[in-house]
Amino acid sequence: MERARELLPGGVSSPVRSFRAVGGTPPFFSRGQGPHLFDLDGNRYLDMVLAYGPLILGHRHPEVVRALTEQLERGTAFGGPTEAEVELASEIRRRMPSVEMLRLVNSGTEATMSAVRLARAATGRELLLKFEGCYHGHSDALLAQAGSGLATLSLPGSPGVPRGTVADTLVLPYNRPEAVEAAFRQAGERIAAVVVEPVPGNMGVVLPGDGFLQLLRQLTSRHGSLLIFDEVITGFRLGAGGAQALLGVTPDLTCLGKVIGGGLPVGAFGGRRDLMSQLAPEGPVYQAGTLSGNPLAVAAGLATLRALSADGVYPGLERLGAELERGLTAAAAERGLPLQVNRVGSMLTFYLAETPVRDLPGSRASDHRGFSLLHRALLSRGVFWPPSGYESAFLSSSHREEDLELLLEAFGAGLGELAESRGRA
Ligand SMILES: *Cc1c(COP(=O)(O)O)cnc(C)c1O
Repeated sequence: MERARELLPGGVSSPVRSFRAVGGTPPFFSRGQGPHLFDLDGNRYLDMVLAYGPLILGHRHPEVVRALTEQLERGTAFGGPTEAEVELASEIRRRMPSVEMLRLVNSGTEATMSAVRLARAATGRELLLKFEGCYHGHSDALLAQAGSGLATLSLPGSPGVPRGTVADTLVLPYNRPEAVEAAFRQAGERIAAVVVEPVPGNMGVVLPGDGFLQLLRQLTSRHGSLLIFDEVITGFRLGAGGAQALLGVTPDLTCLGKVIGGGLPVGAFGGRRDLMSQLAPEGPVYQAGTLSGNPLAVAAGLATLRALSADGVYPGLERLGAELERGLTAAAAERGLPLQVNRVGSMLTFYLAETPVRDLPGSRASDHRGFSLLHRALLSRGVFWPPSGYESAFLSSSHREEDLELLLEAFGAGLGELAESRGRA
């Protein structure tokens, strides 16, 4: 880690990996197999991070390994169209019919950035509406945070993001219908698009309230704005049709990533044909990528989607998720510690909080110091849980009930330490 910190800011290639939020030093991983990761010292961990979402089949699923090995033999990049891209697009559309056409890119960040550009071009409008606590990658226009006056002024979410770039991004609280209604009353005819994580996973998992996404659909339709679902986490994680099928709300554009790359760098955005055909070269909206549709990434993605369509994969993930939720809740109840578990299928966050968590302020108000203690307790017992209270944990089809038993035992021990530390405080 010392050598890494000398060469890489924070010793990492993406901030959350540094363990800043929970303290301590991250393990350096050398190998993964099924639900397990192994570090350089040979320690084994039950992996509840799964590369922050992509590895829904676990590490080194045989079909993914086979597809990648075969593709390696044929070459890694061609700079021309391939049959596999067409197959991947067709497999995606079959499962997610709102995606009539799509463009493959290299990350979720690129997918959302490009979808927003397309939405602004297609509507001829500039205002973008997003929600506090939803993350849509790190492109400038989407790195905005709520300013003081709601729906008046947004602030850059990072130094280096020009005020002018986020001036056209409105940031509203999640799960607050009245705030969205007010924004559309004030500025409806100027709103190009609403971009939203249909089930947010980046303030920790939060569930959309009854009718919230339906309201977004109604308001955008009524005002000629577009609805963009950022399904970079939820796409093919919450079921074959993503959150949109599960929740019964159809967006105009969808952003994908994570699972559709099977562990390789990939993203995609797609939707209505009349919108997507405005992209270059069919239309004037520019978007491009040297390695977009990369054969290795596409091979891993195709193998993943096909393995996911085997009978019983999603029901299995749901069963395991429900069991984990029950186990965590029971362990906390046993010790009289307040715990909220937010879960949909195989994505889950627990919060050390007295009341249900429905938005970013709720997630912030949970006990993050206690979370750090629990994180260390889990890690020291061989469970790699996401190193921040603002992340989702994930399950894969390679996780087994025995794995959950080990996890819950470690969690129980961690709760014991937490109760003790609270007693001392
Ligand atoms: C991870 C994520 C992104 C960004 O994807 P990258 O591949 O990290 O650029 C965008 N939106 C959501 C909802 C995400 O979870």
